[in-house]
Amino acid sequence: MYEKNIPYKIYLQEDELPKAWYNLRADMKNKPAPLLNPGTHQPMKAEELMPVFCEELVKQELDDTTPYIPIPEEVLNFYKMYRPAPLVRAYCLEEKLQTPAKIYYKFEGNNTSGSHKLNSAIAQAYYAKKQGLKGVTTETGAGQWGTALSMACSYFGLDCKVFMVKVSYEQKPFRREVMRTYGADVTPSPSNTTQVGRKILQEHPGTSGSLGCAISEAVEAATTREGYRYVLGSVLSQVVLHQSIIGLETKTAMDKYGIKPDIIIGCAGGGSNLGGLIAPFMGEKLRGEADYRFIAVEPASCPSLTRGKYVYDFCDTGMVCPLAKMYTLGSGFIPSANHAGGLRYHGMSSILSQLYDDKLMEATSVEQTEVFKAAEDFARVEGILPAPESSHAIYVAMQEALRCKETGEEKTILFGLTGTGYFDLTAYQRFNDGEMTDYVPADEDLKKGFAGIPQFPGNEFQF
Ligand SMILES: *Cc1c(COP(=O)(O)O)cnc(C)c1O
Repeated sequence: MYEKNIPYKIYLQEDELPKAWYNLRADMKNKPAPLLNPGTHQPMKAEELMPVFCEELVKQELDDTTPYIPIPEEVLNFYKMYRPAPLVRAYCLEEKLQTPAKIYYKFEGNNTSGSHKLNSAIAQAYYAKKQGLKGVTTETGAGQWGTALSMACSYFGLDCKVFMVKVSYEQKPFRREVMRTYGADVTPSPSNTTQVGRKILQEHPGTSGSLGCAISEAVEAATTREGYRYVLGSVLSQVVLHQSIIGLETKTAMDKYGIKPDIIIGCAGGGSNLGGLIAPFMGEKLRGEADYRFIAVEPASCPSLTRGKYVYDFCDTGMVCPLAKMYTLGSGFIPSANHAGGLRYHGMSSILSQLYDDKLMEATSVEQTEVFKAAEDFARVEGILPAPESSHAIYVAMQEALRCKETGEEKTILFGLTGTGYFDLTAYQRFNDGEMTDYVPADEDLKKGFAGIPQFPGNEFQF
């Protein structure tokens, strides 16, 4: 029901935009476990990370005490081109569901790359430029990160080399073309342009690739080229830091109208949008100032939080990256090819992993056809064509709203609408033609992935 004092869309004024990112780790009593050197199993030192990552980003990665980190002026100016992102009151969805719940979503799809990834891409490109680098390398799965990074690199005049998971490269030629339009060089992964790619191709001929493979290739491409560094669009704590802009804007907008969410929901692939959305709210919870329910939603076909192990694991298939402690399915886990869209990564942000392990956050997994059904129901009333990833959150938000209908509770539900689905129309087509199926890995399938997780003193586990 329309509330006179709450508009459909809440926009902040330019001068109300956050000026600093919020580092949730500063308020965590149990800090996320440090990255380990895969050879020595000792915490990675800054010097060891610098050959791979940009200097300033290494500092941010290792900083778990500074609560606020100023956003550089150049990044703020870029943010102003597409931010603030609107906070929308889903009046039409509430009406359709006939729920007493109040539903809000933060929409991050209002930029050409079509997702929240640009928030971190522009920050990472800025620090690379400031360091005087020539360019950066990265991987992309569904393609949103590669697109965002291409835009950010062209803005700062940096070269951008993208390794795109082969299945997406073939299924999403238009994504690839957007990246090339912004000047990026796009290679399907695994490729024979790197040593690790050749090795993976030899061991798994005809593989459709995975994020883990593409990461290994991108890291190698950066470390074997003068003036290049590797950048990553999710999972890392620095990315969660940059994405805190989502939650900070949301919190400011809600405070302005006296709105307090009861439940905050987000989809979780590597955990960056969810980590960013919940950051200031979780901060309040950690400091004992307020309480919220947080729900991470992951696909049943790639269920790292709900069925994974909380141990140190490789971040990539080629095992060249540091070890991270996270909920993981094993770096060799490759989700079924019938899985549409993103959220395919085998692990989860170590910040979110720790929060989940401390029971400060819940997680649930959902199947693909119910997600697409929710996506279409949402599109038909709210107008936006959502990304499949975002639709995981939509589905659970709708479930919670329907529960309120049964109990008569007027809960306030907030979810992250991370992007648009224009490049996912092949998946929508399969759904519309009734050809989409659900795939839930059996315990046996998961065991194969777990078998690839390294066991060493302090990292023993059963599977
Ligand atoms: C990449 C992506 C995600 C998942 O990544 P997180 O790091 O978990 O946020 C979700 N939605 C969209 C639209 C994406 O592009």
